[in-house]
Amino acid sequence: MRVQLLPSSFDADGRATPAQRLTCFIIDDRVTVDAGSIGIALTETQRQTVRDIIVTHPHMDHIASLPIYVDDLFGELAQPIHIYATSEVIELLKRDVFNDNVYPRFDELKNDRGRVMDYVPFSTGQEFNAAHLKITAVPVNHIVPTVGLLVSDGKSTVAFSSDTAETEEFWTMVNRAPHLDALFIEASFPNSMSDLAKASKHLTPSMLSKELDKLSHNGMDILAVHVKPAYREAVAKELAALEINKLSVMEMGRVYKW
Ligand SMILES: [Zn+2]
Ligand SMILES: [Zn+2]
Repeated sequence: MRVQLLPSSFDADGRATPAQRLTCFIIDDRVTVDAGSIGIALTETQRQTVRDIIVTHPHMDHIASLPIYVDDLFGELAQPIHIYATSEVIELLKRDVFNDNVYPRFDELKNDRGRVMDYVPFSTGQEFNAAHLKITAVPVNHIVPTVGLLVSDGKSTVAFSSDTAETEEFWTMVNRAPHLDALFIEASFPNSMSDLAKASKHLTPSMLSKELDKLSHNGMDILAVHVKPAYREAVAKELAALEINKLSVMEMGRVYKW
């Protein structure tokens, strides 16, 4: 399985910067987990192959350029783009984003070849398929309905915490998996900002370390994501100080393989 965290900002020469402002992971060039930078950072080849998009929650940094992505492809789509989410999140996307005010209700529109966007609801705790992947989602602890994901291609298994504070069900799900190759876990704020982390339901490195105590797998890669750009250095330092095996801040744009 190949997983890439798409860049979300670029310098004046078009080079990707290391800052993560938006969240969009792309798996095997086919499926994305969230869609923050999907409309601005895919390669031309990836634009031709990504038709399955899982939305963990409707916060702007996770869906910012999703409407632009569908708009760009509108005329050329030979099959609809699938938006996988819980019914709650789909209702929020319909109400607040694809509502004919902010952007069109693409799920009601067609091009010459048919529908262009379909919502695909999934239930938490029940495995579903997206392209070649098997996925299970469970609620995590964030300020809007949000899910964490366990994703398998039949050989490798990885887990995405999405945005969350302290959580339980996610770790129960991950611990039930026969093995785990990689964990993508959020580390938004430095330890000095734990009040803000708690209020906005995110993790600091110190909270992350306590969460990892709930994990029964070991030996997997642990990639910290969702680090607020303004505190990237401080968070990276605090994560390094934890001295946890194979824990690092995920690099934007790099293709990781398991
Ligand atoms: Zn969020
Ligand atoms: Zn976020």
